[in-house]
Amino acid sequence: MRDAVIATLQWLYVTTEKAPAKLESILLVLRDMDGVAYTTGSATEKEIHFSCQHIVNSSARAADEIRGVLTHEVVHCFQYNALNTCPGGLIEGIADWVRLRAGFVPPHWRPTGGDRWDAGYQTTGYFLHWLEGRYGEGTVQDINEALKDKQYDEKIFKDATGRKVGKLWKLYCEHLENPSQLPVPVNPSQENPSHEWIVVQDR
Ligand SMILES: [Zn+2]
Repeated sequence: MRDAVIATLQWLYVTTEKAPAKLESILLVLRDMDGVAYTTGSATEKEIHFSCQHIVNSSARAADEIRGVLTHEVVHCFQYNALNTCPGGLIEGIADWVRLRAGFVPPHWRPTGGDRWDAGYQTTGYFLHWLEGRYGEGTVQDINEALKDKQYDEKIFKDATGRKVGKLWKLYCEHLENPSQLPVPVNPSQENPSHEWIVVQDR
């Protein structure tokens, strides 16, 4: 949990001073449930519910999967959401982008194109990764910052890059057809993975 919080603050805010200060605690609940995980709660107190069955199903690479899922869910605790008007696909894409940058890329992830830039999860995550490569470090931070305290507007992409998101997606899909591969961070070696039920008090 500590590593997931540090990765989230590092990639979305760089410094803790810039991160939302309201959040006081994140409770991690490991329990028997369908699906993988979800995050709920208020601005001050969040809960991450994580499926034990999913961990069992991922037993061959449990440490990486636990760290990856926790990183994704902790992003939901700290990211901005344009007063709840942000497309879900961008919310999930930013969460998977941080997971990708933190190095917890599951073996089945691949950069993919398709009809929609906001298909979410790793599809949008890899798109954001490409945006950072093309328009510079901090591009995703700028996009997250633009989701703070105001309604969602697609022009946040134009503000961050100079291009409309539809054009960016088209360029990205063209890039994927190019033989040069998108760089994918290598998983760092993981030591001492923690399987404990932890309450993180972040004050
Ligand atoms: Zn999510």
